[in-house]
Amino acid sequence: MSEMVGRQIRIEGIVQGVGFRPFIYRLATEMNLTGSVLNDSQGVLIVVEGAPSVLDSFCSAIADELPPLAVISRMEVSDLPVNDAADFRIIESKLNQNRVAQIAPDSHVCPDCLRELFNPSDRRYRYPFINCTNCGPRFSIVTNIPYDRPLTTMADFPLCADCQMEYEDPVSRRFHAQPNACAECGPQLSFADNTGCFVAVEDPLVEAVNRLRAGEILAVKGLGGYHLVVDAENDVAVLRLRQRKHRDEKPFAVMSFGVEEIQAFCHVSEQEERLLKSVERPIVLLRSRDGHSLSPSVAPNNKFFGFMVPYTPLHYLLLEQFDALVMTSGNQTDEPIVFENSEAESRLEGIADCYLQHNRRIHIRTDDSIARILDGEPVLYRRSRGYVPRGVMLTTEQPCVLAVGAELKNTICLTRSDRAYLSHHIGDLKNQQVVDSMKQAVHHFQGLLEVKPTMIAHDLHPDYLSTHVAGELAGELPLVAVQHHHAHLSSCLVDNGQRGPAIGVIFDGVGYGTDGNIWGGEFLVGDLNDFQRLGHLAYRPMPGGDAATKEPWRMAVSYLNTVFGSELPELEVFRQIDSSALKLLLQMIEKGINSPLTSSVGRLFDAVAALIGLRCKVSYEGQAALELEMLIDGDSAAEPAYSFLITETDGMLQVDPTPMIRQLVNDLAGQVTAAQISARFHNGLAQMVLDVCRTIVVEQGRLPVALSGGVFQNRYLTELTAKLLRQEGFEVLLHRQVPPNDGGLALGQAAIAGAIAAP
Ligand code: ZN
Ligand code: ZN
Ligand code: FE
Repeated sequence: MSEMVGRQIRIEGIVQGVGFRPFIYRLATEMNLTGSVLNDSQGVLIVVEGAPSVLDSFCSAIADELPPLAVISRMEVSDLPVNDAADFRIIESKLNQNRVAQIAPDSHVCPDCLRELFNPSDRRYRYPFINCTNCGPRFSIVTNIPYDRPLTTMADFPLCADCQMEYEDPVSRRFHAQPNACAECGPQLSFADNTGCFVAVEDPLVEAVNRLRAGEILAVKGLGGYHLVVDAENDVAVLRLRQRKHRDEKPFAVMSFGVEEIQAFCHVSEQEERLLKSVERPIVLLRSRDGHSLSPSVAPNNKFFGFMVPYTPLHYLLLEQFDALVMTSGNQTDEPIVFENSEAESRLEGIADCYLQHNRRIHIRTDDSIARILDGEPVLYRRSRGYVPRGVMLTTEQPCVLAVGAELKNTICLTRSDRAYLSHHIGDLKNQQVVDSMKQAVHHFQGLLEVKPTMIAHDLHPDYLSTHVAGELAGELPLVAVQHHHAHLSSCLVDNGQRGPAIGVIFDGVGYGTDGNIWGGEFLVGDLNDFQRLGHLAYRPMPGGDAATKEPWRMAVSYLNTVFGSELPELEVFRQIDSSALKLLLQMIEKGINSPLTSSVGRLFDAVAALIGLRCKVSYEGQAALELEMLIDGDSAAEPAYSFLITETDGMLQVDPTPMIRQLVNDLAGQVTAAQISARFHNGLAQMVLDVCRTIVVEQGRLPVALSGGVFQNRYLTELTAKLLRQEGFEVLLHRQVPPNDGGLALGQAAIAGAIAAP
């Protein structure tokens, strides 16, 4: 028999409230090891004794068999003298302050709970709020730390004797499961009519299903807020929801019971299946199948559907009855998602026909996250439920910084030591409601993380509401104004565990430049400390300013005007536009009235979409670009690339799209299809990025290339650009943990402020 040794294992990360101690207990007893495990302020501390080889396999089993919600960020093993413990125990810990312990994100219902949900002999059979230490609500119900039942919204529900027993039993899957509940003691469903008045029905769930079958719009209270729900195969119902929500064309998210059901509507690759079924359960963008049976109003003019599978027990019970349900955020367009029973009726009035409610309070609203497979791996378009408040590793420790983001798709970011905590999706900061919601998020995150920022980072734009909020919150604290595209570059660097320097190719819709112009087609070289602008898409007037964002034909005229003067070529698109409006616009451009200059690639996409007659107006941000991308099919890579003229003046590279516009206008006159034109445009952009990067390395040396900004949500463009760059030996950095759009911007702002504070 080999000699006995002792070891201490210290583990940090998301290891509390996720079934970690029962897991260690089971592992140790299975391996006949003795010792103990306890929670402390840093995480979990294990003391264990046994033969060295068994201890080795114990240590590797911890990492290999981790409970689903646990995340280990640090594991330290050290030797201890043997203590001859008789057995293995879970030691109750007295915690005052959980200084480093982390709150877990909300989790989908785990397979064990799901089995119980549909098992007629289980005591929680069909109970819509079943959960355990491996699953259930977390972030959305936590009111403060430490993570303990009285500091969650489950404080409203005293445990019954059976639940209490599970809660206290170290080998139970519900040992210290803070949201533990059953039909006896836990939250309950209720049903309300369109005025929000409670309606006595025998079974609220059955009533809800019946109403959905009848084509009604049901507001369902979920994990992080309300969803507006209709039968996705009922065209009349989906159209009515669209009209009532005043949402003209933006696609609705859809939910089906499982991946197999989704296959009837969409193509699902293995990777996409894994992403759909991941613990975070995001909405995944999937290509639709020809001849699918979903209402065309679910995603008008769109080849993609945003699908998810159920993540709460209630969803499973609902989806059991339908092939697919539209599940769109319960809000009026541009307002934050509704999450409180009291506000639901007033804010969803006129939209919802009835309500499926429950009495578990949601403390923090969280929207569904949105993801897609891009270049072989998942990328997030919206990072919220399921991911938040998990930290993102910074490259180094830094002082605590609060970053407030920009304007669209706002999130805030707080740093603690070497982690950055990006908030849930807050929304477009265009009205007071969203601003209030953002301030609450700042307050809540400061509480959860127990930090006080030492400085506040914000966008360089003087008029963004986020910039004003930063000023309000600052008091005596120093403010750091961060240029928008530098923040994108830094966000992408941190996302890849780098500090730079790198070449930043930053393409987006709008960002305030250091010269006061509207940037958005930028070639930077920089690191977390500083950046230099080496090139950009040539400036063009944006007639009408913001109006040009909503009406892409304005940008089309602007681009044509630079190439052809006021003698515009005869194009199909101009038949849709009033001739006096066209004349007026040309005057605006030529006299420079209300026509700020922009280098935005987003606006170039708008112009191209309008020129080929796809869109004169858009109803949501990025729509023209998205539809242009969707035109692309099979043989696109074989199409020639439109060309850009790259010149240099005073060390600044200018990317002039004039040749590209000429080629496009020629193609419009010929037999070239819109799909081909779109492909040629995309191919041209990718080639242009490569050409500019080639020029930059001559002076700067071979640096990695970071692709960031909302335009790089475009899968075809991103994959092609990355491929061309890699073929020439460039290292390409793409976003993975945070979105390439402005939803990931606060991370970059925070890292820049940190680098400036402690270079
Ligand atoms: Zn569970
Ligand atoms: Zn109970
Ligand atoms: Fe941006």
